[in-house]
Amino acid sequence: MSGMQAVIAVGSNMNNPQRQVRSAMDALASLPATRVLHRSSLYQTPPWGVTDQDDYINAVALIETLLGAHTLLRALQALETSAGRIRSGHWQPRPLDLDIIVYDTVVSTCPELTLPHPRAAQRAFVLVPLLEIAPTIELTGIDSARNLLEHLPAAEVDAVRRLPVASKAN
Ligand code: ADP
Ligand code: MG
Repeated sequence: MSGMQAVIAVGSNMNNPQRQVRSAMDALASLPATRVLHRSSLYQTPPWGVTDQDDYINAVALIETLLGAHTLLRALQALETSAGRIRSGHWQPRPLDLDIIVYDTVVSTCPELTLPHPRAAQRAFVLVPLLEIAPTIELTGIDSARNLLEHLPAAEVDAVRRLPVASKAN
């Protein structure tokens, strides 16, 4: 396969978030014309703002796909829906959130699909797992993931905790 490389961020804070994230990673591998090149460890981040929610579990996957960016987004939204997600707005608890962080070197300002993802540059819970699997990656038109992470407050970076691999049985 000689497709496009893309980074997908996976997040959950509802209904057994670790299981949601692991099964979403498996589901990525089952998308048509797509294979998973690397998957990060799982990371745990305490919720902020509304704190009476479960911790977030986050991870990222590097995929290679023949799907176009919009087709990929629709496929990811179908996975969110089958995980029971009801679209009620930003910052709400959700069983599954799948974002396209980068799609090849595409830059887009379209609100339905902004690339690179408009908030990835400020999110330690995206950049930390991303650097684990792609230490030299660039967010096209913004900066390298490594430089972006260096500019985030240390407290936000430290709050992103890698889960031990052995928690797989959970
Ligand atoms: P968030 O992920 O920021 O919490 P949502 O998952 O609710 O927000 O996404 C809201 C909208 O963001 C979606 O309807 C989608 O069309 C749009 N969107 C724009 N750019 C992207 C992207 N790169 N990846 C995923 N969704 C995106
Ligand atoms: Mg999203």
